[in-house]
Order: sequence, then structure tokens, then C-alpha cells
Amino acid sequence: MTATQQPADARPTDRGPVPASVPARLAATAFVTDEGHPHIVIDQQVARATGAAAVLVPICPAHVYSLAPDGTLAAEYAACLECGTCLAVAPAGSLVWHYPRGGQGVAYREG
Ligand code: SF4
Repeated sequence: MTATQQPADARPTDRGPVPASVPARLAATAFVTDEGHPHIVIDQQVARATGAAAVLVPICPAHVYSLAPDGTLAAEYAACLECGTCLAVAPAGSLVWHYPRGGQGVAYREG
């Protein structure tokens, strides 16, 4: 698709056509990974003790969290959409979350 072509589900807005579906809109996002500076850090001991994986794995819309067979909870922070949902529901002390440093993380593009 060229820059002048629009997806079939595009809808007009005052800023030009925008894809209607969420997957189509998310496909336009870009990610800049802040290598070596994760903005999500899990306290494995607290996460195990509180059962944090049962909350975090299914709630993340970007599937950032995964649970290894040995019980380790992992966070693929490079795919984070920065919605903040996990921070709102995580058991106290199970993770540290902050926005990526300036210029890093997700960049939403629309229109
Ligand atoms: S902020 Fe949102 S997208 Fe990022 S890890 Fe948490 S729930 Fe997933």
C-alpha cells in the first residue's frame, strides 16, 4: 500500500481517513526500545507470593506478560502500549512501572 492508498476499513475524519479497526490502527504504531533500560521490572518473589501472573498475563492488551513453566513472570517491555492497566491492577510491590525515557517506547500514529 502506498502513502496515498487507504485500508478498506478507513473512515474519514477532520484529519483525513483513519483505519476503523483497532488492529489496523495499532498496526500503525511504532516502537523504540530503550535497550538496557526496561520500564517494567518485576519483583519475582512478590509476584509469586501474590499470584500476580494470574492478573497480569490475561489483562495486558499487548501480551507483554508471560509465565514460564518454572513460575517466572516475564515482561517483554518492548511491546508495551503504555496504557497503565497492569500498574493499576498489579498486586502491591509486584512490579515497578514507569514511562520509558523521552523518545523511547510506543509512538502512536494516526491520520
Ligand atoms: S502498560 Fe498496558 S500494554 Fe504495557 S504492559 Fe501494562 S497492561 Fe500491557
